[in-house]
Amino acid sequence: MQLHFERVTKSFGDLRVIEAFDNTIADGEIVALVGPSGCGKSTLLHMVAGLQQASAGEVRAGERPVTAPAPQRTLVFQEHALYPWMTLEQNVALALEFQNHPVEEARAQASEWLSRVKLDGFEAYYPHQVSGGMRQRCALARAFIARPQVLLLDEPFGALDALTRMTLQSVLKELIEEERPTVLLVTHDVDEALYLADRVLVFSQRPARVLEEFTLGHIPKSHDLSAFADIRREVLALLGIDTDDPSAEPRRAHKQGEIA
Ligand code: ADP
Ligand code: MG
Repeated sequence: MQLHFERVTKSFGDLRVIEAFDNTIADGEIVALVGPSGCGKSTLLHMVAGLQQASAGEVRAGERPVTAPAPQRTLVFQEHALYPWMTLEQNVALALEFQNHPVEEARAQASEWLSRVKLDGFEAYYPHQVSGGMRQRCALARAFIARPQVLLLDEPFGALDALTRMTLQSVLKELIEEERPTVLLVTHDVDEALYLADRVLVFSQRPARVLEEFTLGHIPKSHDLSAFADIRREVLALLGIDTDDPSAEPRRAHKQGEIA
C-alpha cells in the first residue's frame, strides 16, 4: 500500500513539530526515518497509524486520507508491547481475535507465527519469563500475523543489546522480504537503517524537515555494511557526528601500538 504525505504539518499547541512534510512511499518500499530525539518521528508514525491527526496537510494510505487506526496499518514500538497477563501465544493470537477470527484458528496461526520467529516451545510462557529479545520476536509475530499492508516500526529494537538487536534485525528483514509490507522504520541506529531500508530520510531538529534523502540502490545481504560507508558518514554528519575527526586517527594508532 502506497503512503502519501502532502505538506503534512503538525503542532501541539504552540509547539511546531513537523513542517510541511512531502513524500511518497511506494508500495512495498522500506523507508527509515532518522533524526534528533524529539524532532517528531514518532508523531509522524502516529499520524500514519491514525492515532494523531495532521494540523494541516494530508496523510493518505492507498488513495484514502488516514482518519483513524485500521488493522492494515500496524504500529510496533520498543517495549510494553505485550500484555503481561497473557502467554506469548495468546498475545499473538489476540491480533487475529481483534479481527473476529475464531479463537481456535487464531491460536493455531499464532503457534505457526511463533515458530516463524523461532519461538517454538515458548507458546505457553508469559512475557516476563522470556528475554527482551524473545519478547520483541513475539511482538514481530503479533505484528505480522494480521498481514498488515503498512508496518510502522518505532525504534523496535531500541531496548535490546547490540548483538540481540542484530539478530532481530535479520529476523525482521526475512519477514519483510517474505511478506512485503510497506515499512516506515524509525530508528536512532544508522546501521539498522542502512541494513533494512531502501531509502533513508534524515530529519532536522524540531520542527522536523527532511535535511537529506538517501536511496541505497542495493540491499545488503549481511551486516557487512562497508559498501555503504560513504552514506553512513554523510548521515552521521547530518546528525552532528563527525566521523572524519582528524584527531581520531592518531589516537587509534597509538592505542593499537600499545596493544602490540
Ligand atoms: P521523536 O520520536 O522524534 O523523538 P516525538 O514525535 O515523540 O519525537 O515528539 C516530538 C515533540 O512533540 C516532542 O517535543 C514531544 O514532547 C512533543 N509531543 C509528542 N506527542 C505529544 C502530545 N501528544 N502532546 C503534546 N506534545 C507532544
Ligand atoms: Mg520517538
